[in-house]
Amino acid sequence: MGLCRGDEAKEVLVRDYWINPLAHLYLLGKQVKRCCCGDLLSKEYYLMICVKKSDKNIRKPIYVGGTCAGKLFNLSGAPTHMYFNPFATVGNETTSRTSGGHEGDIKIEPLNKEIREAIFLLCMDWDQPPGIPTSNILAMINRAPSRRLADHYVKAVNTIIGKDSRRRKLQDIIEGLRVIEKRIRHFRFPEMKAVINSIGLSDNIG
Ligand SMILES: [Zn+2]
Repeated sequence: MGLCRGDEAKEVLVRDYWINPLAHLYLLGKQVKRCCCGDLLSKEYYLMICVKKSDKNIRKPIYVGGTCAGKLFNLSGAPTHMYFNPFATVGNETTSRTSGGHEGDIKIEPLNKEIREAIFLLCMDWDQPPGIPTSNILAMINRAPSRRLADHYVKAVNTIIGKDSRRRKLQDIIEGLRVIEKRIRHFRFPEMKAVINSIGLSDNIG
């Protein structure tokens, strides 16, 4: 999978790969990323995971700017949902499925919402796409936003936070992000913390 510049290359990509859009993110501070086509991204971008149709174990994250994203959404019919927005105060968090006509908003279960936010905030701070375990968790949430994930996924995310190179807790990581970009809103993780306490894990949320 090389550069995906132009319509023809995108048609080939969509022919060979399933396109799973995961998040609508923002470049922070001095982060530099390139679009699927090779161009530098400006402020906003989508994170998408391409899964090879002939071998589901081959998956590759791509970053896509607005123009290319529009084309990929059109070609693949992928739902333009999972709109994780770290800035806006979303009063009523929902998952919009707007592809191919309006299907209304689907409620996301509160624990799933927190897990999704935790994963994307880590991605933003660590400046890397989700790894295989977190991609799988996000895919599960995408498939069934209202079905509460089992506790062991909370344990997995808590463990992943513990891998921060500076050994920060999630709330400290978010504070650090807010120093770079003060529009980042406050996040709370009461559902995750309740699970962590009930299992007796050491809390990496903070
Ligand atoms: Zn592009």
